[in-house]
Amino acid sequence: MIYCNYCPGYCCYRLEGSTLLLTATDINRMARHLGISDGEVRSRYLENKYTFKVKTDGSCIFQAPDRMTKRCTIHEARPDQCRRFPYDKPCPYLHSEDLLAQIQPRIEKSLHQAWGKPD
Ligand code: SF4
Ligand code: SF4
Repeated sequence: MIYCNYCPGYCCYRLEGSTLLLTATDINRMARHLGISDGEVRSRYLENKYTFKVKTDGSCIFQAPDRMTKRCTIHEARPDQCRRFPYDKPCPYLHSEDLLAQIQPRIEKSLHQAWGKPD
């Protein structure tokens, strides 16, 4: 989606009850991109068999903390679920005040910390 280029990546934050599901193909694609083995991807970046670790604010471990846009640091090798979302529908994050209210403060805090500004 073209509008993803101008978005801080709301969908890269874990919400209660949601999970980013990874496949073996996803893991192998990341391994080749990062120049490490599938096993190393699993041990370094996965929380369990099926999903990434997240940072304390719930953001994906691969999300850059210091940018407003293009925050996925493995964009070329991102998982299929990230590629497909929002499944040719309007992005729910850009239409739901509730979703934005949950995530926008986390994004602002991340940027303040990365840029050395007080909370
Ligand atoms: S899918 Fe939606 S929330 Fe995710 S980057 Fe694109 S516009 Fe932002
Ligand atoms: S892999 Fe990239 S696009 Fe997918 S959730 Fe993580 S930061 Fe977002």
